[in-house]
Amino acid sequence: MRKSFVAGNWKMNKTVAEARQLVSELVPGLQSIEAVDKVLCPPFTSLLAVAALLEGTDIGLGAQNMHWELSGAFTGEVSPSMVAELCRYVILGHSERRTYFGETDESVNQKVRAALVHGLAPIVCVGETLEENESGRTSEVVSRQIRLGLADIKDLVDSGGAGSLVIAYEPIWAIGTGRASTPADASKVIGEVIRPALSELFDEQTAQVVRILYGGSVKGNNAAEFFAENEIDGALVGGASLKVADFTQIVQAATPQ
Ligand code: PEP
Repeated sequence: MRKSFVAGNWKMNKTVAEARQLVSELVPGLQSIEAVDKVLCPPFTSLLAVAALLEGTDIGLGAQNMHWELSGAFTGEVSPSMVAELCRYVILGHSERRTYFGETDESVNQKVRAALVHGLAPIVCVGETLEENESGRTSEVVSRQIRLGLADIKDLVDSGGAGSLVIAYEPIWAIGTGRASTPADASKVIGEVIRPALSELFDEQTAQVVRILYGGSVKGNNAAEFFAENEIDGALVGGASLKVADFTQIVQAATPQ
């Protein structure tokens, strides 16, 4: 049984003061939902403040990105050890990073490796564009992203990393658009493309342990339909993670029935 997992990607939203306010409103409702792993991913500037507010709760903290190098002349970047000092999780390869900041499967792979080396649990995002989807290339694109993004990490995964590896299947055309995939389609990509690719890279047992989330316009009122699919272990939530009632409803919907 894979434990349900819901992460909120705040993207470039919330000042430190606003982040403190949102977290203080979220914690009472989220803390009581023990059957779900819950993670908040605010911007770097709010990590320290949010870490302090989450202390003593069962709510995890994640960053939205990081560099793979440990230190050095990389102006504007944040290293794995800096993130690991505050967080257990890090989102890597989000489509917005790939689209606007030139991230590639190769750079995502370097980051995933660095995350695991530093004891971080990477939430690795994959997903196809609308054009790739409409031209029937979803399987090809997603399996390539998995194969290249997770290349050469078998040693780290075998030595205990499988439980900390999380994948988010996020069709790009569904992110922030209000146009979610159907639960059946998302489940098909996860069950027929992503898990088999993980089985090939690692082994079948590992493929069954790794949690795979759906992301793309998940809201309080559609989350339960996604979580009803056996292959969907939770959600990576953008817009709705900034709304207390919506995010709490999504986490509640992820509680096993
Ligand atoms: C995301 O940013 O990962 C995401 C899924 O966004 P939204 O929920 O707003 O579509």
